[in-house]
Parts: sequence; C-alpha cells; structure tokens
Amino acid sequence: MPGGDVTRVVVVGAGVTGLSCAVRLAEAGHRVDVLARDLPLETTSVVAAALWYPYKALPQDRVTGWAAAAYAEFAQLASQQGTGVRMMAGTEVFRVETADPWWAGAVPDLRHTAPPLGHGDAWAFTAPVIDMPVYLRWLRRRATELGVTLTRMSLPALPRADAGKDIVVNCAGLGARLLAADHDVRPVRGQVVLVAGVELDRWWLDAAGPTYVVPRTDQIVVGGTDQPGDWSRTPSAETATEILHRATRLVPELAEAKVVGTRVGLRPVRSRVRLEADGSVVHCYGQGGAGVTLSWGCADEVTALVTQITER
Ligand SMILES: Cc1cc2nc3c(=O)[nH]c(=O)nc-3n(C[C@H](O)[C@H](O)[C@H](O)COP(=O)(O)OP(=O)(O)OC[C@H]3O[C@@H](n4cnc5c(N)ncnc54)[C@H](O)[C@@H]3O)c2cc1C
Repeated sequence: MPGGDVTRVVVVGAGVTGLSCAVRLAEAGHRVDVLARDLPLETTSVVAAALWYPYKALPQDRVTGWAAAAYAEFAQLASQQGTGVRMMAGTEVFRVETADPWWAGAVPDLRHTAPPLGHGDAWAFTAPVIDMPVYLRWLRRRATELGVTLTRMSLPALPRADAGKDIVVNCAGLGARLLAADHDVRPVRGQVVLVAGVELDRWWLDAAGPTYVVPRTDQIVVGGTDQPGDWSRTPSAETATEILHRATRLVPELAEAKVVGTRVGLRPVRSRVRLEADGSVVHCYGQGGAGVTLSWGCADEVTALVTQITER
C-alpha cells in the first residue's frame, strides 16, 4: 500500500499451493490469513507421491521456470532437519528411444542411461522427493511461526477483496470450478498404494502406466492411475492389485513389501495453470499432476503480483 501499510492477504486453500504462497507472502512482510475447507492433511496435496516432476501441467515455458525455482528451494530444504524433503537419484524408463524432455533445463544432471531389460531407453536424474505428510506439517509450522493464521471455512464464493485493503489469493485447486466459475479445471483421479518393509534408495517412473515407485521416509508410494473426469475418492481394491503388479514388474524388490494403505486424490488439471491477477484477486490453481513440483515457483510469482498490486 502507498504509505507502507501492511496489506492483509486472504489465501483460499491449504494444500501445498496455498501454504507455499502463505509462507512467501508472510516472508515478504504481508499479514496473511488462510481459509480452507480441508486442512493440509486432508487435501489432494497429502496424497501426492511426491516426486519433483513436471507432469500434466502447462504451459511449458512457465512450468519450466516454476519447476526450476522449486527444485532449487527443495534442494535447500533437503539439508534442513524435519522438512521431509530428500534429494534422490532415480530412473525414468521408456519403451522406445526418447528425446530429452522439454523441462530438461530445470534439472542439473539429467542424462540417458542404460535401460533395464524390456525397455528401449531410460533417463537418470536427481530429483527432490517429498514426504507429504511430514512436509505439510513442516509448512504449516513455518507459516504459523511467520504469524499466518489458518481457519477451516467452506466458502460459497471468493471473499470480497476490498479494493485498496485486502487482497485475495485463490489457491483452491479443483475448488476453483466453484469459486472462479472455471470449468476448465477438472479432476484427473490418481490412486496410490502405500507399502512398507522394503528399502529402496532410488525412485522409478514409467509414465506409460503411469507406474511410479517413490520412497518416503518409512514407506514407499506406489502408483498409479490417471483417470480424467472421475470424481470418486474411494479406493478400488482391484486397481490397487493392478498397480502393485505393474510396479513389481518395474521394481522386483516390491514383491517382498507389505501393503499399509491406499489413497486417492483428484489432480486439479487445467489446459494451462492459471496464475494471474484480476483486480485485487490473484488466481493460482490448475497445477495438475505437478502442484508440489511447481509450488515455490508459483509462490514467488504470486508474491510478486501481490507486491505489484499493493504498490499501485
Ligand atoms: C495420486 C497423486 C499423485 C501425485 N503425485 C505428484 C507428484 O509426484 N509430484 C507433484 O508435484 N504433484 C503430484 N500430484 C499432484 C498434486 O497433488 C497436486 O497438483 C497438488 O496437490 C495441488 O495442490 P493445491 O494446493 O493446488 O490443491 P489442493 O491440495 O487440492 O488444495 C486445495 C485447497 O483449497 C481448498 N478449497 C477448495 N474449495 C474451497 C472452498 N469452496 N472453500 C474453502 N476452501 C476450499 C481445499 O479445501 C484445499 O485446502 C499428485 C496427485 C495425485 C492425486
């Protein structure tokens, strides 16, 4: 605000997008209040695998920039106790020879490697791997330390952004269908199986399934599915068996693993991520299968937009 008043920013949503924005905004000196129907450990975000990987998110140029910024931040967080973030090498496999991905510039060490038997090509690279239940607790603590409040509230509409006073940041994910009347954002259902009793020191991915195996601190997340337009959050036992079958073909050690849970989440997929200001509202949703991967990059840009609005 002209004259240096502290702006009140209302962030809608307490998934990885809302909490990352809340932290960055508070670090920039804003007063931040988060309103959310679901608390962090009830969101889609807690279901994420969560491997740093630009998946089902566009446009390519902006996604590459956000992903690179988040990669750098996660690399930093990996050196701090209690964040749940680790840097881990892993392998993505392909049926046939495959060119480098469009986002290769966001990763420092991506290289082709000898593919495992039955595959035509493979890339190896180091990526952040985030244990979401641990990480979301850490993010919430970090936000609280910075004075951010979090209130459970199911909103029928976005709060009114009083011109020149409050700014609203919309991080409602799939909830933007209602809050921003935006039917371009739609669910792509993902189911994962949590297993324990086996130790792996790298992640594995075969996007064709999609099949992925991502070690957390005490468990391994085994995925997955990609089901556009499916709103069901109920896990299917049949799908869980099929996921494990695919994953064990990719990582045979999983044959010894014990199933400890099954989770479902609805990815907020959109034709392109919506990150833009509209008057005193900043929209930030539609990160699809890459909300964790893009989180800090998006939060930095949201903070820059809020600063621009306050300086008008
Ligand atoms: C199986 C699976 C695996 C995944 N793996 C990865 C991965 O490896 N890497 C990766 O980067 N991403 C992954 N993702 C994608 C990632 O989970 C999402 O992109 C991310 O969680 C989106 O976060 P968000 O904060 O935008 O939305 P959400 O986590 O959905 O949070 C939305 C928030 O908005 C609130 N809200 C909505 N409507 C309202 C309302 N009317 N009033 C109040 N509050 C409201 C909700 O309650 C919630 O708090 C995966 C997703 C799934 C399902």
